[in-house]
This record gives sequence, C-alpha cells and structure tokens, in this order.
Amino acid sequence: LKGYQAVNEPLLEYRPGSKESKELEETLKRYEGTVFDIPIVIGDEEIRTKDVKAQVRPFDHQKKVATFYYATPDLLKKAVDTSLKARRDWERRPQEERSQIFLKAADLLANKYRMDLMAATMLGQAKNIQQAEIDAAAELVDFLRFNVQFAGKVTEYQPISPDNTVTNSMIYRGVEGFWAAVCPFNFTAIGGHLPMAPALMGNVALWKPSDTAVLSNYVAFKAYREAGLPPGVINFLPADGPVFGDTLLTSPDLCGINFTGSVKTFKRLWRQVAENLDNYKVYPRIIGECGGKNMHFVHKSGDAETVINGTILSTFEYNGQKCSACSRAYIPQSMWPQVKDGLLAALKEVKTGSPLDRENLVTAVIDDKAFARIKGYLDMAKSDPALTILAGGTCDDSKGYFVQPTIIETKDPSHKMMQEEIFGPVLTVYVYPDDQFEQTAKLANETSPFALTGAIFVQEQTARMKLCETFHEAAGNFYINDKSTGSIVGQQPFGGARMSGTNDKAGGPHYLTKFISQQSVKERH
Ligand code: GLU
Repeated sequence: LKGYQAVNEPLLEYRPGSKESKELEETLKRYEGTVFDIPIVIGDEEIRTKDVKAQVRPFDHQKKVATFYYATPDLLKKAVDTSLKARRDWERRPQEERSQIFLKAADLLANKYRMDLMAATMLGQAKNIQQAEIDAAAELVDFLRFNVQFAGKVTEYQPISPDNTVTNSMIYRGVEGFWAAVCPFNFTAIGGHLPMAPALMGNVALWKPSDTAVLSNYVAFKAYREAGLPPGVINFLPADGPVFGDTLLTSPDLCGINFTGSVKTFKRLWRQVAENLDNYKVYPRIIGECGGKNMHFVHKSGDAETVINGTILSTFEYNGQKCSACSRAYIPQSMWPQVKDGLLAALKEVKTGSPLDRENLVTAVIDDKAFARIKGYLDMAKSDPALTILAGGTCDDSKGYFVQPTIIETKDPSHKMMQEEIFGPVLTVYVYPDDQFEQTAKLANETSPFALTGAIFVQEQTARMKLCETFHEAAGNFYINDKSTGSIVGQQPFGGARMSGTNDKAGGPHYLTKFISQQSVKERH
C-alpha cells in the first residue's frame, strides 16, 4: 500500500472501573466458563482427529482452557496439497490486495477481538493484564500494520532501463512451495506473526501453534480468515512436533521454515533440511529465533536505581519466559551493596500468583516440563558451593506451575548458571572487582553461546565506548541504560545472532525480504 504509515497500537491501561476493564472482565468470565474446542483447519474444512489434547491454565492446571487435536501425517500432507492449490491464486494477487486483508485483520484484532486475545493469553499462557496487552493486543497488531508498510518498501525497487530499446523490471513473488511456521508459547504476537509474514508476501504457510498457546493463536487465525484471507493460504495445524517436522520437512515442496523456539528444536529442523536437500525443489530458507542468556552488564558509573528496576522487570516479568529476559548480571564490587539491597527490597514487593490478579508480576511458568527444568537448576543451586541463593529458590506445582522469583550469586563467572538458558524467573549475579572491568566484559562476551539481547548500564563515555565495542556481536538487541526486554515493532526490530538465531529482525523491513523471490526481467523492444 503506497504511502501507508503504520503507528504503534496505543496500549490500554485497564484502570479499575474503566470501559476496557469491564469488557475484559466479562470476556474473562466467558472464557473461564468455557472449554473451547479448537479444530485443525485445512482449507475450509474443520477437522477433529482421535488424538485429543488439552490446553490447561498454567496457574491452575486441573482447569482446561481448550481441547484440540493433533494432525496426523496424512492430514499434514493434505494441508500441503491444499496450500499449494491456494498458492496459485494468492501469489498472483497484487501486493496491495494482500496488504488490505492484513490491515483489516489488524483492525479486527485491535478492536473486535482484542478482549478475546487478552483472555486467551491470560488464561492459557498465564500473562497478567499488562503483559497480555503489550503482547497479544499491541504487538500482534503492530506486526501486521508495520509489515504492510514494509511490504511496500521491499517491493519498491525497479531497475533502470538505459534507453527505450529495453525495459528492465523486477517482479516480486512469494517463494515457490510452502512455509512451515513453527510457533512458541511465550508471545501470542509471535504465533500470529510467523505464518502471517510469509502470507503477506504471497506465500502459503502451515501454522503449527505451540500446544500451550493454541487458544490465542486460533483467535488470530480466525481473524485473518474473517478479514478475507482465502482458505488454504494459512492452514491451522496443531501437531506433535516431531510428526510435524518429519512429515513436512521431507516434503519436496517445503520452501522455508519460520521458527521461534528452542535451540535444540531449531538444530533438529536444520539437520532434517540438510538430510533432505536432494529432495527439495528449492533450497528452503530457514529463519529462526531461539534462546538467549541475556546479560545486564553494569559499570561503576551506571545508575543504581535504573539497574535495580530494569533488572527486576527484565528478569521477572512473565516469569523470565521472554527470550529477551535478563538472566545473568555483572555488578561492580563498589556498587554491589546498594544494588543487592535494592534488588532484594524490590523483590519483596514482587508478588507471585494468578495472572488474573493484577498485582502479580510473577505468575506460573508454562507447563510441567518448564517447571521440572527450572526446578532442576534450583535444586542444583542449593547444593553447589559456587552458588548462593539470595532470594527465592523454592517452587510448588500442586495447583499451578509456580516458581518463586530467585536471585543467586555466583563466585564463578563461567558457571553454567551464567551460560545456560533457564527460561524461568531466575537471575544469577557475578560481582566483579571494579578494576577488572575490561576483563570481565570480555569474559561476559565469551561466556554464553547466545547473542539475543543484552544491556549495559554506564554513564562514563570511555567505558561506554569500550563496552559497545566489546559487546558489538554479543547481542542482536542491545540496550544502553535500559532493560533487555520490551522491544517494540518498528522501533527495535528484534532478533539474535550466534546460537540465538538467524538475526533476521522481526518487526523491521529486511525481515520481509526472506519471503520474496525475485524475477529480474529484461525485455528488448
Ligand atoms: N520482543 C520481545 C522482547 O523484547 C521478546 C521476544 C521473545 O521472547 O521471543 O521482550
């Protein structure tokens, strides 16, 4: 759409008694009283298989929010055929037409379905109001609108024609084949985005929602269809991960994977593509955003209050389950007493509990697997002499998957608590001698295999420059005097390098170039 300028969707505050607060309460009531039945959708057909699964409330795991069905290999193959048929018309449509559909979807999601997205994300993924609002309501809508703006940009270039005997042109199409969109639980916005971005550019996508985010993803899917997305362009396919991978990655028509999730799964997918290279019609494009071990690195000139507030939020909002969450901090000795007191005092104010209660910053982690993984790290911390638990350290899964926000100090800057992604509300701190600032920064850069987000807290200019230089490859999203979470579409395009991903920057224009196949045409007259 020529000239379309996106703006970020304004956040609602949900003040008690406000119109939006009442609307949300009503919608939550409806959602709490319903177990939604979510079909597989292939083309226009809703399908239910014998393999019935349940999505539960993470904070009250006896309560179901939805039932859904795993797609069988045969259904996945059928979805490939259906999407390839849909592709014939879809890839020929003008970009403007595709953009209009997603702008309409953005309006539906921002207005008609906003509260549905909120309720589905709060109950199903255990986000509190504020976290649900910035994710499901605002970021998803932002992805749609900004991508529409960027779509115009990345298809804008036309080559020169030196004289009138020749016309040179560039044609932009989707990639031949289908995309597999493999989605995470932690952002409804990412679930909605991974299949949407290829579709916008004229591709077709098979959408595998996370088992723990099926409900919210289905709300987005329905809105796309209601906005006019033709059947089959995106098929909605909850499925067992390995079955989905084994079936689709061996298909000759796979043309790309758009993935957000764990390093382990991403490598598995990549290996499968490598093994199947002789079978494909095109080289599949692989886009991935994986984990992180994101640091807050503090210089002695940093502002202690900013460090304390930023670290508490980054580590504990949504229970440390943002890929961008801070999970290791480097604090100079001279600042440690103040920062430690500040962190511990702030932590006393952090409440843990149901996401429906607005005072809770920390809620339940997503499922039993996450709980067991995090518990494993906490158990280790209790017996490892290199670690001291300063706060938290306990967990309880009797009703929901609750982990107390935890701060650990380590004497060993290379400890695995400083290297491995825990993906839970756990911060590990290393206190360094002030005069070893440069060595510690170098070590921090080399400690973990990831490079997703990172933040430095520094006022002194020389130190700032040194840190920027040392960390220039250590974080795809780098923050100076601000926390490592909370990137906004169109403001901080998001993605990590090293083992954190292919760094294609969702929420920025270049991301969309992955989904176009270009034909350069020369015509002689
Ligand atoms: N973009 C989000 C943020 O900056 C994180 C996305 C993710 O967890 O994958 O907080």
